[in-house]
Amino acid sequence: MSKNVEEVEVKDDTLRATLKLIKQSVELLELSYDVYEYLRTPMRFVEVAVPVEMDDGSINVFTGYRSQHNNVLGPYKGGIRYHPDSTPDEVKALSMWMTLKCSLVGVPFGGGKGAVVCDPREMSLREKEKVSRGYIRAMGSVLGPETDIPAPDVYTDGQVMAWMADEYTMMMGTPAFGVVTGKPIPVGGCVGREEATSRGCVYVAKEAARTLDIPLKGARVVIQGAGNVGGFAALLMAEEGCKIIGISDSKGGVYDPAGLDIESVIDHKKSTGSLAGISDVQQITNQELLALDCDILIPAAMENQITAKNAADVKAKIVVEGANGPTTPEGDQILKENEVLMVPDILANSGGVTVSYFEWVQNNYGFRWDFATVDQRLQEKMIEAFNQVYGFYCAECIGSDMRTAAYMFSIQKVAEAMQYRGWLRNGLKSKQ
Ligand code: NAD
Repeated sequence: MSKNVEEVEVKDDTLRATLKLIKQSVELLELSYDVYEYLRTPMRFVEVAVPVEMDDGSINVFTGYRSQHNNVLGPYKGGIRYHPDSTPDEVKALSMWMTLKCSLVGVPFGGGKGAVVCDPREMSLREKEKVSRGYIRAMGSVLGPETDIPAPDVYTDGQVMAWMADEYTMMMGTPAFGVVTGKPIPVGGCVGREEATSRGCVYVAKEAARTLDIPLKGARVVIQGAGNVGGFAALLMAEEGCKIIGISDSKGGVYDPAGLDIESVIDHKKSTGSLAGISDVQQITNQELLALDCDILIPAAMENQITAKNAADVKAKIVVEGANGPTTPEGDQILKENEVLMVPDILANSGGVTVSYFEWVQNNYGFRWDFATVDQRLQEKMIEAFNQVYGFYCAECIGSDMRTAAYMFSIQKVAEAMQYRGWLRNGLKSKQ
């Protein structure tokens, strides 16, 4: 390696940590530095203005981002989040994880990610629709079913995808629903896509529990986040016989050591938008939730939740990262010292992009698969991915961890594709 990651000026902690992990993996694999050089920055980063006339007649100009990280394996793929705190560096890090995730699980996509800096919780449905259509109008020229395919992420959903598909189709003058995935079924969606990320989490959680001989029936599970990923994960883990003892949203959580009536908790969240006011449960903070005594913890909300400050309080035996980047490097180190089995984000939440790929295939070929077919294929991919990463982790014996193993496994495949495509003129391996 001729350069240090420290030489690259990166202020954002998440992006810096991601670059460090990529660089470390390239070094451990003894790959050419050129692999890191390609991966350290997106191939294209676009920022657009999205002007919207709000319901009160005022004009709000929102900022939209799209990071197209790397397309050596196929078209860029990754969600769009609506969040007031989104930054270019966050979007770049998220797009890097998409490159690794797609490689890891073996779907022929590259990595992309997008965001609009806004707070949809403060917006009417009509304003949200205008933002979604405005983003596509501004960004449409760099997207496309064979170029870059967005999907839902934090505070975006199937309805947002349907507006985006409609706007893109009108721009193109011909149906092009394959431009986004995660759509509702009547407009080309795939059965099972909505809960695919959570279902994927459950499949890898089952494999992780099996490796530690923890029976899933009766296992105590805690989930941070009660949205798409967290909410469905709670219901699906309960279907597996687990006891969901705690769950939270951005305002706090609920806890019952005897196990929550999770269906009614999720119904309450859906109907009131909050976890407050549920009877016969203890209200807790997000910090208390992460420290609950349990077998499996599924952080399924936002980045940087398990940190140097609270990782030592985590009592779970297994952490399954439903969210992207919920654990900081310092948090990771503490969990590793405490022998917590970590199922890292790029593996744990790759069920979403896997079923997005199934949706894209069906859109391109005009197929409609049934739920059993989708679920069977998802299950096979997730179990295979878990065992490949776990096998790599055990075989490498590098004093490493599951996250490093996952990075190494996926970067190896990305690098091989670069080599075949002629991007690595100096060879795949480092000359040292
Ligand atoms: P969502 O908007 O449906 O739900 C997010 C949930 O997190 C909400 O319940 C919200 O109240 C809660 N939340 C927000 N901030 C919080 C905080 N500071 N503390 C605790 N809870 C908080 O979003 P989602 O689609 O479920 O995404 C959640 C995570 O999963 C994100 O990291 C996202 O990138 C990742 N992810 C989502 C998908 C997908 O298919 N939706 C796929 C892969 C990864």
